[in-house]
Amino acid sequence: MIFGAFDVGGTSIKYGILDEQGKILHQSQTVTNASAGGKKVIDQVKDIARNLQADYALDGVAVSTAGQVNNLEGTIVHATESIPDYTGLNVKKELEEALRLPVAVENDVNAAALGEYWWGAARETNHFLCMTLGTGIGGAIVMNGKVYTGASFSAGEFGHMTLYPGGKDCPCGDKGCYEMYASSKSLERRVEEYFGEDSLRDLFAKAKNENGVAEYVVDQWVSDVALGMKSLVHIFNPPLIVIGGGVSEQGDYLLDKLKRSVNAQIMPSFQRPLQLKMTQNGNDANLQGAVFQLLALL
Ligand SMILES: [Zn+2]
Repeated sequence: MIFGAFDVGGTSIKYGILDEQGKILHQSQTVTNASAGGKKVIDQVKDIARNLQADYALDGVAVSTAGQVNNLEGTIVHATESIPDYTGLNVKKELEEALRLPVAVENDVNAAALGEYWWGAARETNHFLCMTLGTGIGGAIVMNGKVYTGASFSAGEFGHMTLYPGGKDCPCGDKGCYEMYASSKSLERRVEEYFGEDSLRDLFAKAKNENGVAEYVVDQWVSDVALGMKSLVHIFNPPLIVIGGGVSEQGDYLLDKLKRSVNAQIMPSFQRPLQLKMTQNGNDANLQGAVFQLLALL
């Protein structure tokens, strides 16, 4: 079998052709016409899928997308202004009617988690948490090999745990949320404060070369990331937390710091089974996880 898979974000639509083993046979991307609204964005997906259909006999279409997703109905339960008028759209119905193919729709962090479960960092366990550090912090809870979605398909918003009551204003309307301190964007803000215009890559390079200020900035941020993880570990007692986002390229250097900081704050019974790993498949995991969900429907 062969599938068209899409990863719809506020800035780009990544897409590919995958087989039923999750192997990516072809991959490309385009700019999301986000300002035109959710319906037009899905029209873009339709057009690309039709073009793919001209070359490949697709057996289905799998979609990973920004926003909270009812993965049974394929509806966007809630989306931010990064794609206006996306909330309420039934992506599955729109695409199935246009393409005459089975369609599955999943939230992008959940899809990434399932991709890592299928072929990546989480393939040796059935229970784990996935956390992506980006502009905000996304989360996914996988239990018994399935995503736990909650009462309204919105579970896993790790980024909005309160880290510092009364702290920095968060776009969600509250103050002091975890993502205001522990996202990679928050790290970028810290870098700007101490070094002016500098990249995260440069920051980590400096820290690895024992630049004291760089090490301080990294360590302060790691301490905030670990503080949120402490709560998650004590609630879920997970055997594994998979960490994604651009900082995952820092590999063992960052993992070692995080492990030390998390272990210093959690009870011994939680330390023993806990593993922290970086995602292995980057954006490919979103496409693979979306196909994994589609295969469960067929
Ligand atoms: Zn918030």
